[in-house]
Amino acid sequence: MTLEEVKNDDSKYIMNTYGRFNVALVKGKNAVAWDVNGKEYVDFTSGIGVNCLGYSDEGWVNAVSNQAKALQHMSNLYYSPLQTQVAKKLCNLTGYSKMFFSNSGAEANECAIKLARKYSFDKYGKERTEIVCLYNSFHGRTVTTLSATGQDAFHNYFFPFTQGFSFAAANDIDSVKKAVTKNTCAVMVELIQGESGVRPLEEAFVNELKQYCHDNDMLLIVDEVQTGVGRTGKLFCYENYGIKPDIITAAKGIGGGLPMGACLCTEKLGDVLTAGTHGTTYGGNPIACAGALEVLNRVADDKFLNAVNEKGDYFFKKLNAMEQVEAVRGMGMMIGIVLKKDNAKEVATKCAENGLLVLTAKNVLRLLPPLTITYEDIDKGLAILAKCL
Ligand SMILES: *Cc1c(COP(=O)(O)O)cnc(C)c1O
Repeated sequence: MTLEEVKNDDSKYIMNTYGRFNVALVKGKNAVAWDVNGKEYVDFTSGIGVNCLGYSDEGWVNAVSNQAKALQHMSNLYYSPLQTQVAKKLCNLTGYSKMFFSNSGAEANECAIKLARKYSFDKYGKERTEIVCLYNSFHGRTVTTLSATGQDAFHNYFFPFTQGFSFAAANDIDSVKKAVTKNTCAVMVELIQGESGVRPLEEAFVNELKQYCHDNDMLLIVDEVQTGVGRTGKLFCYENYGIKPDIITAAKGIGGGLPMGACLCTEKLGDVLTAGTHGTTYGGNPIACAGALEVLNRVADDKFLNAVNEKGDYFFKKLNAMEQVEAVRGMGMMIGIVLKKDNAKEVATKCAENGLLVLTAKNVLRLLPPLTITYEDIDKGLAILAKCL
């Protein structure tokens, strides 16, 4: 198929919900991808932070394809040795007590919201349901996670939205206190707001927030869907802040390219969701679990994570030296680039034409390279970026 054929059928048969680049990919290897015409791209996107081991990593491909040959799905009515291995590994690595498997980030956040509300229901009764989120957050596309997303543009068309969410300004503890009422059960944040422009929260604010939540028996939920699984140079980003949230959610990188999400909680929350109160058909699917096990075996390793930090530092240094760059934000290999000319969309399009895939987030350029990217590919991609800037 040619690019034109794909584009025609795409617009004819698929709901037009995405603004796509003029690229149709068919193949990849680590941080390099090829399109229908055989054109090569350096890929600084990893499928929006999903392919943490890059395209078609050998160990991951073997794990996933062997599992597909053995048993692809079996429902959550039966015990799954793979699910228990992934769960045990995640809990042991993080110190969390229990987890729930979902298929996406939005669903992982839905689980966190239900968990927080039921904890509060069981302890305080049915009025204490409110959750404070931050402005400029992003928590997903379901009706409830849209409600939790602190951007007006997302609160349109789909009325009525789920009740019980209010918003506060990032890095402003007084604003959080103002948004809290006697019926607040939780506060939910991203430690680095990804979709709204790669903005890290300040450490002092995060520490005050943790203490404030603790003092008022409100649960601190950290959405690590984008920041988790090695992206910021630690297994999870909360480690960079020296706090331990009550609940964290993960998705994107966790399956290495297969749909998986996770909601992890501390001991006091481990038995709140009981049989019949939550569930999913696909969650913890064996093939996704086989991928996740390979991802965790590789990423949760000091050498691997140090390499992520070093590559991140290298990106920051090289990007800061580019004269068109105003500022670089983020941590590890979650990178936002503020451009002097404020023309990120235009630059991203130009990069694709010239063989480099990059993302945007609001008005910044955003890079989420595979964690396994080589310095050679980093240099190749940065040279194309410099030219396009
Ligand atoms: C991508 C993302 C989500 C949504 O994940 P889906 O898998 O698309 O549902 C939620 N929260 C954050 C922080 C994200 O980056």
